[in-house]
Amino acid sequence: MRPLIGTSWKMNMTATEAGRWFDAFVPLARGLLEVDLFVLPSFTSLELARERLAGTPLAWGAQDVSPFDDGPHTGDVSAAMLVDLGCRFVAVGHAERRRDHGETPAVINAKISATLGAGMDVILCTGELRRAPDEVAVQAVIADLESCLAGIAGSELARLVVAYEPLWAIGAGNRPAAPEHVGQIHRSIGSWLANRTAGARPRILYGGSVDQDSAPRLLAEPGVDGLFVGRNGLDPVAFAAIAAAAPAPSPAALR
Ligand code: PEP
Repeated sequence: MRPLIGTSWKMNMTATEAGRWFDAFVPLARGLLEVDLFVLPSFTSLELARERLAGTPLAWGAQDVSPFDDGPHTGDVSAAMLVDLGCRFVAVGHAERRRDHGETPAVINAKISATLGAGMDVILCTGELRRAPDEVAVQAVIADLESCLAGIAGSELARLVVAYEPLWAIGAGNRPAAPEHVGQIHRSIGSWLANRTAGARPRILYGGSVDQDSAPRLLAEPGVDGLFVGRNGLDPVAFAAIAAAAPAPSPAALR
């Protein structure tokens, strides 16, 4: 499976700044042949993403979606609107949306349904809130996945990506989780998903303070299928360096 490396800009970058980022990154992306790439700009830059990124190796998507199809939901953006702008991915369940907007697993579940129903891929963010031993973290993550994915058919989960993002590792001032911890949680998520996904094998990304130095060891950990990058994705050169850390596929994998 090709590694998937993506970045969410959160509430950063005007459309003008986004245009500069796209112009700088696209030539770099053409040299990143071993990975799949995505960027999640703000809603305000999605039309520009469609203009500048169509036909490039960089897919784009949104940081949020309304659980409703349309109608009186002022300020919300529907899945159909995102599809119309060429979005392939939608992130749901990010820790900052849970914190700032009180999003519950039920709301996240409805957003997952809206995203899958519109034919886009979901990036479902999950992770324990505090540092904890592996078994405790696994329990918290699986309980969250159980609630967020309740009632979603296994056949639909081919378009699921899980982003394991322990809250204590996200954001300025924090450090990435240890690769051994990340690998353990990823393998547990993978086993849990294997019983529910009707043969599909969703990719499981790690997110939390990933940078150029930590990326190679994280990607080398069995069970880590890619990386989800926050603040170190705001610089196109730094993001390209992180993506370049993905190991080339082994000859066996290419046969
Ligand atoms: C995130 O918040 O999803 C994230 C990965 O951020 P950062 O890389 O800045 O820790």
